[in-house]
Amino acid sequence: MKSSNSGYTMSCIMCGRENDERETSTYCTYCGGVLDIEYNKSEKHIQYPLKEILPDPLKNHYSSLKKLDRLSEKYDAELYAKLEFEHPTGCFKDRGSYIEVQKALELGADAICLASTGNMAASVAAYACYFKIPCFVFVPEKTPEVKLAQATIYDATIIKIKGDFMACEKLCREFAKSGNYYLAGDYVFRQEGQKSFSYELYEQGDTEFDYIFVPIGAGTNFAAIYKGYKEMKAAGMIDKIPSFVAVQPEQSSPVVEGIFKKDKIVKEQVNTMADAVAVADPLDFYKVFRGIEETDGLAFTATENELLESMQEMTVEEGYFTEPACAIPLATFKNNLDQFKGKKCLFVLTGTGLKSSHIVAKYSLSSPVLPPNLERIQQYIESGFIDMQKNSWGQSRNTGFENVNMDEGHTKLYDEYVNNINRKGKTLKEEEIKVLRSLVYNEDADLEYPVEVVDYKLTMRKHGLVSAAVKLKIEDKDEIISLDQGVGPIDAILTAIKSETDGFLPLEVINHEVEILSPDTDSLVIVTLTLEKEGHRFTSKGASPDTLEAVIQAFVKGLAIANKALAV
Ligand SMILES: *Cc1c(COP(=O)(O)O)cnc(C)c1O
Ligand SMILES: [Zn+2]
Repeated sequence: MKSSNSGYTMSCIMCGRENDERETSTYCTYCGGVLDIEYNKSEKHIQYPLKEILPDPLKNHYSSLKKLDRLSEKYDAELYAKLEFEHPTGCFKDRGSYIEVQKALELGADAICLASTGNMAASVAAYACYFKIPCFVFVPEKTPEVKLAQATIYDATIIKIKGDFMACEKLCREFAKSGNYYLAGDYVFRQEGQKSFSYELYEQGDTEFDYIFVPIGAGTNFAAIYKGYKEMKAAGMIDKIPSFVAVQPEQSSPVVEGIFKKDKIVKEQVNTMADAVAVADPLDFYKVFRGIEETDGLAFTATENELLESMQEMTVEEGYFTEPACAIPLATFKNNLDQFKGKKCLFVLTGTGLKSSHIVAKYSLSSPVLPPNLERIQQYIESGFIDMQKNSWGQSRNTGFENVNMDEGHTKLYDEYVNNINRKGKTLKEEEIKVLRSLVYNEDADLEYPVEVVDYKLTMRKHGLVSAAVKLKIEDKDEIISLDQGVGPIDAILTAIKSETDGFLPLEVINHEVEILSPDTDSLVIVTLTLEKEGHRFTSKGASPDTLEAVIQAFVKGLAIANKALAV
């Protein structure tokens, strides 16, 4: 794509005053407002605020513009998607990083820094790495390593901070000022890079949409796409600007709420599975707000369940597995079908689903382990489990289990649980039956139990200390009694069991979770243990009206699972 510039000024959108890019590339030095770049002349091609523009080193093609044929037919509208997940790091942010990093070099920065745990960090790191400028990424201490994998492999320096994301951002800003460092993020030069989205549509021969749906976090991408359109109209390249549709998850919607209130809203906290748009303080709110007002635009939210549903629908119908954030356009479109019937709509599919495999794992039922036996596999296929598994997406994890036919082994296992629960004078409620069936179905029905807990007794001591006596049978040896102490009953019983079983198979208890199904006195309790031996992790579950018994079941089962897994 041809690019140049006719000279430009950088001004604050709030106070209107001109700012000097050698002093700031983030906020207005007078009022703290956000900045905007205006070129001296309109040109019939994209202009970048750079003296010299190198071709994008990481790609040499446009992101695809694709008609969504099946969804268009299904919903009686003309639906298109721009596949922004095709960028090198799997996200549109590369458009902005490409320009931001070059700007940092032009300004003579010694390094780039930013606070981010996600796509922004990966993208800036990728371009910084290519252009050989050091990159510092500030992240909260609790950030999972997998989320930092991309930035790490692109050679960024990861700075982990005690505290939350706000603390990281603040510190990173101070860090930037402490040296000759360029602060990257949702600022003015990023917008200039990301507006290439719109110029690309022009080159691809299709800019005329009735609506463009943009998933919004900070609002920078929306602002960039809209700016691209405005520039092209001013240059006479196009006649018409589409109506923009700002979409967010219901659980993280400061921009959509702000549009209705006509004022910026900052949330205390936001929480959505669409973490790419989980932004509590939307930096570019006012640019989005103006875009909506000036294009007669719209703003909608969608629930978490609607995101799951649309995410799957886009994958199954059209073949595009995207991040949950990219499901918001389809979800909000479907919620407002009357409005969009027959209209030509463009969905911006901002990022790849490959970074969201944990979401799929979390919301889908896993498959049970089957013996290597064709007959049992046939039984499984006919059991009804598979339909139930497919239908469970986006709903409760436990839906539908009542209709599944269990094989012999699982039926026996289930009956054992139920008998044991009945012996305790408890009958299961409908919801508990579903959960128990789901638990049993995911268990290995052919497990052999090397350790049996025959009996146990607890005695409370002072200061929360508890003594446990446990009668155990390990393999075919004689029964033994193990005595030990712990902080609280669960710790005491596990310590006592482990002090004997560690000689047989040492398992470290990494985590235990206790789930009480309904908060009455004789409710079923599900205990999930995470166990580890030399880097191998195992999870095991127990179910009983008695918490301790569920703990014992889970641990004994964990021993059996680990014993089997490690034996192979
Ligand atoms: C960053 C991001 C967004 C939101 O863009 P903003 O410019 O923050 O509004 C949407 N989707 C994905 C995948 C992103 O990475
Ligand atoms: Zn200002």
